Amino acid sequence: MADQTTVRVVNAGFPQCGPVPACGECGLALQDRATTVDAWRLHGFVPPDREHGWFCVACAERIKSTWRTENTVELLTSAKVPRRHHAATLASLPADMRRELERWAKLRESLVILGPVGSGKSWSVAAICRELLLAGRTLEWWAAADVVTAARAFDTWDETSKRLRSVEVLVVDDLAAERDTDFALAVLAELVAARWDGCLATAATTNLSTSALRAWHPRMASRVLSGIRVELTGRDRRLAPSGGVADG
Ligand SMILES: [Zn+2]
Repeated sequence: MADQTTVRVVNAGFPQCGPVPACGECGLALQDRATTVDAWRLHGFVPPDREHGWFCVACAERIKSTWRTENTVELLTSAKVPRRHHAATLASLPADMRRELERWAKLRESLVILGPVGSGKSWSVAAICRELLLAGRTLEWWAAADVVTAARAFDTWDETSKRLRSVEVLVVDDLAAERDTDFALAVLAELVAARWDGCLATAATTNLSTSALRAWHPRMASRVLSGIRVELTGRDRRLAPSGGVADG
């Protein structure tokens, strides 16, 4: 058996004296701490044997970006984007949809995509999720029904709820599928309100019309509809030229 003892120097501190350290990637002389990234902060992005020393900010960002591009499926999976939508890209969407999604990605507001089952709502949201994850944003994808189910698990809901209220971007897929119970309505309305109050971006899809959404819960509807709204009509299979789009 190999010797298990390992010694790793992690973050020895930026040297105040002696030779000016160089970026571990491009060799740039790193003059001050403010423009330097400790290599240990790239944990997971670089192999362990590179987790010491320093990188310039530009190289650190490039390393992270490269890692994300090479591990997109892992990012989509950990954000819980449904596997059937993993292939969704902005390029697979009509230009006007793409434009609205890209506009939303720069905001901390709501996005809602309304349309019948099979019109490509979830597929479209998944496409912008991919872009957000590639840009290093944190995101979680939840079916509205799963939020309600999670809320019934009282021992874990506190923790889950805190996360859903604070994650940078939250997708609530198929909102109003659970509209029959007061409990479901209260849980979803409270979540939407908390995120709206915190200026956090929430994307929702629903097969309700604008007026049905308003009739269901006027206050929640006004928050859901307050940002960017996209309405899809009909079964627009052009959204997935490869034919890979699933219902929703
Ligand atoms: Zn560099």
